[in-house]
Amino acid sequence: MLNKKIREILSECKERGWAMEPQAKEILSLSGVKTTEFTWARDAREAIRFANQTGYPVVAKVVSPEVVHKSDVGGVVVGVSGDEKLSAVFTKMAEIKGFSGVIVEEMVRGVELIVGMKLDQQFGPIVLLGLGGTAVEIYKDVAMRMAPIFEKDVDSMLKSIKAHPLLEGYRGSEPISIDALKKMLLAFSDMVMGFGEEADSIDLNPVICNASKCVVADARIMLAESAHSS
Ligand code: ADP
Ligand code: MG
Repeated sequence: MLNKKIREILSECKERGWAMEPQAKEILSLSGVKTTEFTWARDAREAIRFANQTGYPVVAKVVSPEVVHKSDVGGVVVGVSGDEKLSAVFTKMAEIKGFSGVIVEEMVRGVELIVGMKLDQQFGPIVLLGLGGTAVEIYKDVAMRMAPIFEKDVDSMLKSIKAHPLLEGYRGSEPISIDALKKMLLAFSDMVMGFGEEADSIDLNPVICNASKCVVADARIMLAESAHSS
């Protein structure tokens, strides 16, 4: 079951059929899945205020109901390092079709993973874990399990991806917090069960993990046909 607050956010997304990044992240937070610290700024002043609270550098990303892949349209700028630069990025992004504001968020360093859900006609929701970023398409290195997943499933998923040495600290790089990643996957599984058949797919790409935390840096929820036609 999804709680009332999540239902309210979903009702704003129904007509469009999908939850944009800030909406999806809000739903994740309400479900106990940690995301980056972010704000959805409607003007440059708001963006600058948030950046000064969080501290530079920040990441700026376009919010638009017409843009699914933000980087394809110049809608993602990482490492923005001051008020003037942020203001210029905001002005530039305002030209993107469907512009509805800018996400300003903390910049996180670490290993990029993908966590996802795909609704299968036969098996119901399937949870997926793999190496993130563009590597997803090249290596197809993913582990999949039917939801719900439990701790033992998470352990076997982590072991079964070829990239797992990257998680444990490969050639001197710092190991990521496996504990934080496990907590995220279990909370995500609970959220997925709450959605039941209302979502077709959920993409958290990337989830960024380092030694101290694991957070969702990008998220999209595609609603099922039946959920948005009603
Ligand atoms: P999209 O997938 O819509 O193009 P993303 O939000 O995934 O946009 O951003 C594109 C890339 O920018 C990510 O794959 C990641 O490498 C980087 N990125 C996005 N947000 C952050 C962040 N908060 N910290 C560090 N890198 C980020
Ligand atoms: Mg992405």
